[in-house]
Parts: sequence; C-alpha cells; structure tokens
Amino acid sequence: MSQFWSPIVQTLTPYVPGEQPKLPGLIKLNTNENPYPPSPAVTAAIQAVSADVLRLYPDPDASALKQALATHHDVQPNEIFVGNGSDEVLAFVFMALLKHAEPLLFPDITYSFYPVYCKLFGIDYVEVPLTATMGINTADYENKTCGGIIFPNPNAPTGVSIPLSAIEALLIKQPDVVVAIDEAYVDFGAETAIPLIRKYPNLLVIRTFSKSRSLAGLRVGFAMGHPKLIEALERVKNSFNSYPMDRLALAGAIASYGDEAYFQQTRQAIIDSREQMTAALEKLGFSVLPSHANFIFARHDAYGAEELAAGLRERAIIVRHFKHPRINQYLRISIGNPEECKTLIQTLTLLTSAL
Ligand SMILES: *Cc1c(COP(=O)(O)O)cnc(C)c1O
Repeated sequence: MSQFWSPIVQTLTPYVPGEQPKLPGLIKLNTNENPYPPSPAVTAAIQAVSADVLRLYPDPDASALKQALATHHDVQPNEIFVGNGSDEVLAFVFMALLKHAEPLLFPDITYSFYPVYCKLFGIDYVEVPLTATMGINTADYENKTCGGIIFPNPNAPTGVSIPLSAIEALLIKQPDVVVAIDEAYVDFGAETAIPLIRKYPNLLVIRTFSKSRSLAGLRVGFAMGHPKLIEALERVKNSFNSYPMDRLALAGAIASYGDEAYFQQTRQAIIDSREQMTAALEKLGFSVLPSHANFIFARHDAYGAEELAAGLRERAIIVRHFKHPRINQYLRISIGNPEECKTLIQTLTLLTSAL
C-alpha cells in the first residue's frame, strides 16, 4: 500500500543495524555491545525508581543528567545536549547544524547511518576517501568548500583514530562550518576533543552510553559544544519530542557516571582483550588495523571475509561483514569477554587451517 507513503518515504534506504538473534549460546560479536554488564550502581538506581513516578512525565530538560555530565567533563550544563541514544542526537545534529547549501563532508568508509540521515533530511554530501592505510587525513577536508564535516574518532568500522592536533588543525582551517566528531568509541583509547569546545565555537562532540558504559539498551547519548550549537539542537528536540529521556534512562545514566572505578576497570579489560586478540589474529595470518575502539577490523591474507563469517556463523559466532567493495575483505569483530575471545580465536584457528 505504498501509494499512502509520502514522497520522501518512497525514496528512503533505511539503516540496517547488526542483527539481534535470540539463539541460546550464541557468541555475539557483531554490534560492538559491551560484554560486561553495566555498573551495579546503575541496576540499583533503576530499581530504585518507584513505579508510581512513572505516572509523571520526566524532566524535559534532563537537568540532573546534564549536571552530572557537566561536572565529570568540566563543562557547563548549557554546553550539553542529551538524547535518546546518540543516533537520535546525531539525527538532530544533521537537521539542525549540518544541512546547508554546500555539501556535507564525511569519509567514504564510516558509520553507515550518515548517508541515511542525509537522505532523510535532504542533505547533499560528498564522501572523502580514506587514505590507503584506511585512515582519515584531515588535510583532505581542509581545502574543500562545504556545509559541515562529520566523522567518528576513532572511525567506524575501522577503529582507527586520529590525534587531537589533527582535529584542531581542521577546526582552524574550517572555522565557518560545524565540525562534528562522533566519539562513540573514544573511551577505548583515543583522544577526546571535549577540551577544545571552549576554544572553537564550531566544534560539536557526540558521545554515547551504549559502548563504553554498557548501556546500549538504555538509549542515552549526548553532545557537547558551544551553547549556540546546543540551542539549535534543543530547538529541534522541542519541535519533535519534549521527553526523549525517560525516567529510567535518566536514573541509570546518572548512576553510571557515579561509578568511575567500575567504568575504568571494564574499559581497561576491553582494551587488554583487544591487544591480546590483535596479536592472536596476526599470528593466524590476519592483517589488523590499529584499533582504539572496542572492536577490531581485520582481513585474512588468504581467506575471504565472507566465507570466514559464514564459517563462524555455523559455529554460533556472529561478526559483522560489510559489502562495500573497499572493505568487503574485512571482518569487524567486537571485543567480547575473555571466554568469548578465546572461543573466537580457537574457531578461527580451525577455519584458517581447514578451509
Ligand atoms: C554505536 C554508534 C553510534 C550509536 O550509538 P547509540 O547511542 O547506541 O545510538 C553512533 N555512532 C557510531 C559511530 C557508533 O558506532
């Protein structure tokens, strides 16, 4: 009955998230979820929300969460926007700050939601190729006329990061457009750009609770930048949904920032596992891109990515494989817990000797 669809819906190509199968015993390394549960303080805070208050709308300004984030990141609450997962925050960023007459720039290999938002909001864009070593060279973005720039740091799905100095050089060269840095994975070892937001009013940093804080199911993301950028996001949000942050999400997110020790411990465990996995995969004949994320992007020198992914799936391990020609020989493997990492390596050892 697509004759009822609006013209814009007829043209959409929606983003396809990694699958969420419900098979028991499955080792799920395909969506970069955190293998560790959230802090016990998060569970306690959510349980402490009395069902009775669910009658009442939550705080439309999410003031308590903004205050917790402001204290932790040493910024002011009016430099923070919070939303229902960073995907929602990103959607508002595209609509409010990245849609202009000139095209938006982002890498050819990056988070595949970006072109989807562009279609939805009618934003013209140009894909800037990654370098031969699959990195972002900010100089490639410095000399182009554009309406805005966005990329993740570390980039997805490569895991490769760039230093803060490169981002600062770009901000200096492109002072008249918004430069949005998607820091979904920054806690796993890259340099955050948050300290630069005071110096560069065109810088916006986007973060999520889904990866490093083990809260993909709670849907909390945020952005930090100059109050004028934040105001633009609030204008869109308040024209769309007054209450994107529900009471449980607010309680859980605040509690997560209250347990720094747990955050540091789980973050470090994932970094350690990543380094061990990288070494083990290299021994099996994989080339692994240097990752600062909670996943690795690797290709085997002799075996095709598609057949390896299929072989893993037969043995109840799922990883992500992208069909884009430039990266279709790579597998993106999320870092699991030590047991899952061990099983993955054992299974790949089998596959790369038996195929
Ligand atoms: C996972 C991810 C997001 C989305 O995070 P949510 O907060 O779960 O919506 C945004 N950007 C990148 C690059 C991601 O990998």
